[in-house]
Amino acid sequence: MNENAENLDLIHIAECRMQRAVSLLDGIKRGVYNFLREPKRSITVRFPVQMDDGSVRIFTGYRVVHNRVLGPGKGGIRYHPEVNLQEVQFLAALMTWKCALIDIPFGGAKGGVVCDTKALSTDELRRITRRFITELGDDIGPHTDIPAPDLYTDEHTMAWVYDTYDVMHPGRNNRPVVTGKPLELGGSLGRHTATGRGVLDATEYFLQHGGVKGLHGLAGARVAIQGFGNVGATAARLFQQAGARIVAISDSQGGIYNEGGLDVDAIEAYKKAHGSVVGLPESLTITNADLLALDCDILIPAALGNQIRRDNAAQIKARLVVEAANGPVTPDADIILSHKGIVVLPDILANVGGVTVSYFEWVQNVENEQWPLAQVNRKLRQKIQQALAKVMGRWHELEQQRQAAETGAGTDRPVDMRSAALMVAIERLAKVTLERGIWP
Ligand code: NAD
Repeated sequence: MNENAENLDLIHIAECRMQRAVSLLDGIKRGVYNFLREPKRSITVRFPVQMDDGSVRIFTGYRVVHNRVLGPGKGGIRYHPEVNLQEVQFLAALMTWKCALIDIPFGGAKGGVVCDTKALSTDELRRITRRFITELGDDIGPHTDIPAPDLYTDEHTMAWVYDTYDVMHPGRNNRPVVTGKPLELGGSLGRHTATGRGVLDATEYFLQHGGVKGLHGLAGARVAIQGFGNVGATAARLFQQAGARIVAISDSQGGIYNEGGLDVDAIEAYKKAHGSVVGLPESLTITNADLLALDCDILIPAALGNQIRRDNAAQIKARLVVEAANGPVTPDADIILSHKGIVVLPDILANVGGVTVSYFEWVQNVENEQWPLAQVNRKLRQKIQQALAKVMGRWHELEQQRQAAETGAGTDRPVDMRSAALMVAIERLAKVTLERGIWP
């Protein structure tokens, strides 16, 4: 590695973030810190699957439970050629922080299978899913570890997960074993749009409560969104409905820009017809790098990780960056943005809507109920607002302490929302860990 290059190793990133949060915390016990750093359980399975052409291929799958102090593990299963244990462990830890922050009785988990869904038939995917779930056996369960969709898995995949588990455990209500299911199988209304809706709820609350000086709401705010998939497209629609002006949008092919505002309906129709947002009439074509550097009020990376890094953070001009994607801003970029006075609403708060409504789905399954959409959305908003209020309270408190102290609270850069959020999560987990005590 070039010695000047930023270290983007996931373990390093996780460690940087935890160390910063812990440096601001009043004495967390070393044993608790070590307990929270490492995953509780990592499973690797290798299994054969018969392909459509009669050949047999061996696949590798992972399931990691990072922490189960607050309740069963919860987290998605991704299918991707680059899935690896380190990535799954990193994402499982993120789930632990998210569940603790949003105050739901789940721990963090994640899973994945190394495969390229684009090169597999539906039958092959079904056989891979069924065999993977069979291999996991009783390591998943409605009260131990509850999967959900993630990259390249969807409600159909979750229906196979449910069906396989149900065949293996007949005679009881197995619906809560997995979330993100089709509606007819106990899926929740509002699950599909929950992450984008949570991004809106979090941003609105943050602005209305003074998170960004001089920007008190979404009306008229100029917004740029990287990514036009589930999260990006939902956020674009909801932000527009809330009065924001969507000035730029992108996907993997590139971006589009119109200072006067883009119409989300038109973008959706164009993308459906042409496979990309690029080329939309009355828009200027830009690159993804241009989009990130746009002069706008709110920048929402909603595609991939490590998009705002040491090498491009200085070019960011937005006043607020909302991490709809997981990990789009790197630790070095955090420092640069913080010195520029740009606030980052971190992923563990901004994109927590998906797991929150997954929890609602689980509750509905346990109760054999289906809640109306308005109830799901109202409860989601309440949960997000409560979490935001708690983290913003901690953020202001720490920043005041830092300004009052001569040397600062362990650092001379302003306290960031990410560290405040992580601190709230770690404090909650540490408290419950100590309350439960070590067994035996
Ligand atoms: P998706 O696959 O539906 O959409 C991803 C979008 O990103 C697509 O529009 C794709 O074209 C675009 N994209 C890919 N490469 C790009 C590039 N180089 N530049 C710009 N755009 C690019 O995925 P999603 O469900 O919308 O998830 C987006 C992000 O949000 C991911 O980081 C995911 O981990 C995170 N997230 C999703 C959820 C959820 O419920 N879907 C929950 C939490 C976090």
